[in-house]
Amino acid sequence: MNEKVGFMGLGIMGSAMAANIARAGYPLLVFNRSPGKTANLIALGAQEAATPKALATASDITFAMVTGPEALEELLWGADGAAEALGPGKTFINMSSVTPRFSEELASRLAPTGTAFIDAPVSGTKKPAQEGTLIILAGGPQETVDRLIPLLQTMGKKVVYCGEVGQGSMMKMAINLLLGSMMEALAEMLNFGKMGGLSMDTVLDVIFSGPLNCGLFQMKAPLIREQDFPASFPLKHMTKDFQFVVDTAYDLGAPVPTAHMMLHLFRLAVGKHWGDLDFAAIWKLLEQLGKPQT
Ligand code: NAP
Repeated sequence: MNEKVGFMGLGIMGSAMAANIARAGYPLLVFNRSPGKTANLIALGAQEAATPKALATASDITFAMVTGPEALEELLWGADGAAEALGPGKTFINMSSVTPRFSEELASRLAPTGTAFIDAPVSGTKKPAQEGTLIILAGGPQETVDRLIPLLQTMGKKVVYCGEVGQGSMMKMAINLLLGSMMEALAEMLNFGKMGGLSMDTVLDVIFSGPLNCGLFQMKAPLIREQDFPASFPLKHMTKDFQFVVDTAYDLGAPVPTAHMMLHLFRLAVGKHWGDLDFAAIWKLLEQLGKPQT
């Protein structure tokens, strides 16, 4: 509890996760690229760092929860980057969703600094992040992960040890392959049913009454029913993750035919300027593709 914690990246997930670290009583320093995102954290007792380097200098443990590789590159090795201030006795934890290959590269690049590194992406979205009930998917030396469990548990209900560095990211890519595909499948079948004359409420009643019922469908069906898609998990990030799944599958030689199709569809939706909506807005693409051509 005496460890000083730094948290970089205060978007949908990071702001909620950092708030739970502050509530647990850890001394917390925060940084976000764009200003104006720290007020709720300062109200919880956190302080704002002027740069990533200043944050890492004053922190024993530094977290990053940002979009992906470009953002991490910027925060670590850009102007006043955190990497310069990392060193022996310090720990860097990347919670952003990236490929296992990128996590392994991060580990190699950080190794000369002597800092401990784990990848710890999360399963769960905005609400679990707010409630501190994320599932944290950790990769790295087991003793490092074990040491960090009390701190990680301020953000999550469960820490799953996935293996060496990169395996947390591998687990995250596997989970998001299923998540994005299930979301698209729900949207696809609802649109198919609607075009065939079925009431959406009746179709949902059948889904929710049998073995197809699940938390994801319960959470996302109302967005489609209401035609309102405020982002918990932005569609542009799901698209990024399908790209990472496809890239990782290429490295592994693994067949992922669904991921290739999903990447194509989600990219089309980003092209329609729906990237900042929730990923359930893949519905809008299917609905539009299904309209009779004029
Ligand atoms: P978000 O709301 O879009 O926030 C993205 C964060 O990254 C912001 O703090 C943003 O800073 C920062 N960022 C982007 N580009 C940057 C750059 N070049 N340099 C420095 N900072 C940069 O995203 P999110 O939903 O919190 O997701 C964060 C990560 O968690 C992603 O990897 C996502 O895939 C993953 N994830 C998300 C969810 C979810 O449900 N939302 C669930 C699990 C995992 P600005 O404020 O300056 O733009």
